[in-house]
Amino acid sequence: MVQRLVYRRRLSYNTKSNRRKIVRTPGGRLVYHYLKKPKTIPRCGHCKDKLRGIQPARSMERSRMSRRKKTVRRSYGGVLCHKCVKERIVRAFLIEEQKIVVKVLKAQKAKVKAEK
Ligand SMILES: [Zn+2]
Repeated sequence: MVQRLVYRRRLSYNTKSNRRKIVRTPGGRLVYHYLKKPKTIPRCGHCKDKLRGIQPARSMERSRMSRRKKTVRRSYGGVLCHKCVKERIVRAFLIEEQKIVVKVLKAQKAKVKAEK
């Protein structure tokens, strides 16, 4: 007959935090081992891509980890991926350039008007 397995903790519902696996003890008994929730890798805040160079962890574990395991040394490191940061930098640069172009055109128009 198959051995019946019983929970080893008080929580008696099949919830996400009550995941377990069956393990055979050295004495030949079958018991439950409780599993932790899967660790997650942070994702980019813009494109939702997985961030590279960051250790997967539960949030409580993350609070105990050192800074270098949670981030990369870049502006927006640990928040955005490199592609999105690059895009933002290029976009900001182009907007600034556009502003300068508009200013130059305005100045030229004023000059022409002043000559007439
Ligand atoms: Zn991204």
